[in-house]
Amino acid sequence: MPFVRGITECLMAGGRAICRGGSGMADEQLRFYSTQAWKKTRAAYKKSKGGLCERCLKAGIIRAGEFVHHKIHLDATNIHDPNVTLSFDNLCLLCRDCHAAEHSNKRYVVDANGYVHGR
Ligand SMILES: [Zn+2]
Ligand SMILES: [Zn+2]
Repeated sequence: MPFVRGITECLMAGGRAICRGGSGMADEQLRFYSTQAWKKTRAAYKKSKGGLCERCLKAGIIRAGEFVHHKIHLDATNIHDPNVTLSFDNLCLLCRDCHAAEHSNKRYVVDANGYVHGR
Protein backbone atom coordinates (compact mmCIF):
# COMPACT_ATOMS: atom_id res chain seq x y z
CA MET A 1 0.00 0.00 0.00
CA PRO A 2 1.55 3.31 -1.00
CA PHE A 3 2.27 5.75 1.77
CA VAL A 4 1.81 9.33 0.73
CA ARG A 5 3.76 11.81 2.75
CA GLY A 6 2.91 15.38 3.42
CA ILE A 7 -0.66 15.39 2.25
CA THR A 8 -2.44 17.65 4.65
CA GLU A 9 -5.41 18.64 2.58
CA CYS A 10 -8.77 17.14 3.01
CA LEU A 11 -8.94 13.84 1.17
CA MET A 12 -12.47 12.89 0.41
CA ALA A 13 -13.64 10.48 -2.26
CA GLY A 14 -17.02 9.49 -3.42
CA GLY A 15 -18.68 10.35 -0.15
CA ARG A 16 -16.18 8.16 1.60
CA ALA A 17 -13.35 9.66 3.54
CA ILE A 18 -9.86 8.55 2.75
CA CYS A 19 -6.66 9.17 4.56
CA ARG A 20 -3.05 9.19 3.49
CA GLY A 21 -2.03 5.74 2.50
CA GLY A 22 -5.44 4.50 3.44
CA SER A 23 -7.15 1.73 1.60
CA GLY A 24 -9.62 2.87 -0.99
CA MET A 25 -7.67 5.97 -1.90
CA ALA A 26 -9.06 6.90 -5.27
CA ASP A 27 -6.53 7.41 -8.02
CA GLU A 28 -8.36 10.45 -9.31
CA GLN A 29 -8.23 12.20 -5.96
CA LEU A 30 -4.58 11.35 -5.56
CA ARG A 31 -3.87 12.71 -9.00
CA PHE A 32 -5.74 15.88 -8.20
CA TYR A 33 -3.82 16.51 -5.00
CA SER A 34 -0.54 16.13 -6.83
CA THR A 35 -1.37 18.62 -9.59
CA GLN A 36 0.46 21.92 -9.81
CA ALA A 37 -2.90 23.66 -10.10
CA TRP A 38 -3.95 22.41 -6.68
CA LYS A 39 -0.58 22.99 -5.06
CA LYS A 40 -0.58 26.57 -6.31
CA THR A 41 -4.16 27.14 -5.26
CA ARG A 42 -3.55 25.64 -1.84
CA ALA A 43 -0.44 27.77 -1.27
CA ALA A 44 -2.15 30.93 -2.55
CA TYR A 45 -5.20 30.28 -0.40
CA LYS A 46 -3.15 29.66 2.71
CA LYS A 47 -1.24 32.87 2.07
CA SER A 48 -4.44 34.82 1.50
CA LYS A 49 -5.58 33.76 4.96
CA GLY A 50 -2.27 34.63 6.56
CA GLY A 51 -1.72 30.97 7.36
CA LEU A 52 -4.25 31.08 10.17
CA CYS A 53 -7.13 28.75 11.00
CA GLU A 54 -10.30 30.51 9.90
CA ARG A 55 -12.55 28.96 12.49
CA CYS A 56 -10.22 29.74 15.37
CA LEU A 57 -9.78 33.28 14.10
CA LYS A 58 -13.54 33.82 14.20
CA ALA A 59 -13.42 32.85 17.85
CA GLY A 60 -10.54 35.26 18.41
CA ILE A 61 -7.89 32.55 18.63
CA ILE A 62 -4.69 32.84 16.60
CA ARG A 63 -3.71 29.39 15.45
CA ALA A 64 -1.82 28.12 12.42
CA GLY A 65 -3.97 26.54 9.75
CA GLU A 66 -2.78 23.12 8.70
CA PHE A 67 -5.47 21.71 6.43
CA VAL A 68 -6.99 23.23 3.33
CA HIS A 69 -10.48 21.81 3.52
CA HIS A 70 -12.99 21.61 0.68
CA LYS A 71 -16.38 22.78 1.94
CA ILE A 72 -18.00 20.77 -0.82
CA HIS A 73 -16.21 17.46 -0.45
CA LEU A 74 -14.59 16.15 -3.59
CA ASP A 75 -16.04 13.13 -5.26
CA ALA A 76 -16.20 11.52 -8.67
CA THR A 77 -18.82 13.99 -9.86
CA ASN A 78 -16.89 17.17 -9.13
CA ILE A 79 -13.21 16.22 -9.17
CA HIS A 80 -12.81 17.70 -12.65
CA ASP A 81 -14.75 20.88 -11.91
CA PRO A 82 -12.32 23.71 -11.07
CA ASN A 83 -15.21 25.73 -9.67
CA VAL A 84 -15.35 23.15 -6.91
CA THR A 85 -11.78 21.91 -6.65
CA LEU A 86 -9.89 25.19 -7.06
CA SER A 87 -12.35 27.90 -6.07
CA PHE A 88 -11.38 29.91 -3.02
CA ASP A 89 -15.09 30.00 -2.21
CA ASN A 90 -14.99 26.28 -1.60
CA LEU A 91 -11.85 26.28 0.53
CA CYS A 92 -11.31 26.77 4.21
CA LEU A 93 -8.01 26.84 6.07
CA LEU A 94 -8.32 24.93 9.31
CA CYS A 95 -6.15 23.76 12.15
CA ARG A 96 -6.11 20.09 13.02
CA ASP A 97 -8.78 20.35 15.69
CA CYS A 98 -11.16 22.39 13.57
CA HIS A 99 -10.65 20.09 10.62
CA ALA A 100 -11.41 17.12 12.81
CA ALA A 101 -14.54 18.88 14.01
CA GLU A 102 -15.63 19.39 10.40
CA HIS A 103 -15.46 15.67 9.77
CA SER A 104 -16.39 14.18 13.09
CA ASN A 105 -19.84 12.87 12.50
CA LYS A 106 -21.62 9.63 11.80
CA ARG A 107 -19.74 9.00 8.58
CA TYR A 108 -16.21 9.96 9.47
CA VAL A 109 -13.70 9.54 12.17
CA VAL A 110 -10.51 11.54 12.52
CA ASP A 111 -7.34 9.98 13.84
CA ALA A 112 -4.78 11.47 16.22
CA ASN A 113 -2.86 12.92 13.27
CA GLY A 114 -5.88 14.75 11.95
CA TYR A 115 -6.47 12.43 9.03
CA VAL A 116 -9.99 11.59 8.03
CA HIS A 117 -11.18 8.00 7.71
CA GLY A 118 -14.49 6.51 6.75
CA ARG A 119 -16.24 4.66 9.55
ZN1 LIG B 1 -11.77 18.36 5.23
ZN1 LIG C 1 -8.95 26.00 14.35
